[in-house]
Amino acid sequence: MVGTAASVPTAARGTSATMIARGGRRWLVDCGEGTQRQLMRSGLGLVDLDLVLLTHLHGDHYLGLPGLLKSYGLRDRERPLTVIGPRGLTALMTALRPVIGRVPFPLALQESDGGTVWAGEGARIEAVPTRHSVASLGYALVEDLRPGAFDPAAARALGVEEGPLWGRLQRGESVPGAGGAIVRPDQVMGPARPGRTIVFSGDTEPCDSLLEIARGATVLIHEATFLDEDRERARQTRHSTAREAAALAREADVGLLVLTHLSSRCMPRDVRAEAAAEFARIAIPRDFDQIEVPFPEKGPPELHPARAPAGPRAAQAAAEEPATVSAPDL
Ligand SMILES: [Zn+2]
Ligand SMILES: [Zn+2]
Repeated sequence: MVGTAASVPTAARGTSATMIARGGRRWLVDCGEGTQRQLMRSGLGLVDLDLVLLTHLHGDHYLGLPGLLKSYGLRDRERPLTVIGPRGLTALMTALRPVIGRVPFPLALQESDGGTVWAGEGARIEAVPTRHSVASLGYALVEDLRPGAFDPAAARALGVEEGPLWGRLQRGESVPGAGGAIVRPDQVMGPARPGRTIVFSGDTEPCDSLLEIARGATVLIHEATFLDEDRERARQTRHSTAREAAALAREADVGLLVLTHLSSRCMPRDVRAEAAAEFARIAIPRDFDQIEVPFPEKGPPELHPARAPAGPRAAQAAAEEPATVSAPDL
């Protein structure tokens, strides 16, 4: 989690940005102001992203992008970058062009109303329209089904010699077994195994499209800008309360609900208490915490807290943050 604050940064939380690290790929969901520096502070450094997914075009979700593109330009990046977002993305980037300056690498802008926005490498990214005060999208990273587990005992029983033949079976080839009989992969492999699904709500009121795409997700990263006592304000600004996010997570039966986009007006412990009344599997990360998402058969997703920053001032900042800024909710 690169930034977990709503609307405005605080001493302890940057504005919205979440990095997905999958294989050798690094993707970012939203890129709030200061994301570059957050990446450096997190120890990840200014990684070469392949993809930036913007949930909507409020400043606390994209203002980090001009600086990031500029830095990439200054270091002569050549690798292409794709930025995906809702309608209005191209117009916004055109308006920002004088700020960003020359972009010496291929930059593709992709506007979406929903549907598959990316596919490859055993996964796809689906966008769904959500319900915020401007055009907005939720995203789901959905991995393909994986081949079932290989059963060595079954292979031996069918007379398939251990070694390269086992590898061929696991790659989906039929091979000779006892007495030259053909052994098919489905005789020695278990049923196909699901991949992981990670869903990002962006800023939104509770909505059916998000509920549908979140059904059975391994992890749902959902905003929780308000507590239920401010539900009216949540409706006006088209956000969710912690209780609403947790109720959606319960209905979707997700593996883990990760609450983010926390307002400086709410204490994280109050957000947790309210959400916990609806749903048990909750994480409320601080900036730089990591969520490890193993394959389902390897165990549940888990929050790994970042190491505490050094120095008394940093420790103070990392403590439960006081309400420092009051701002209109984006
Ligand atoms: Zn926001
Ligand atoms: Zn917003």
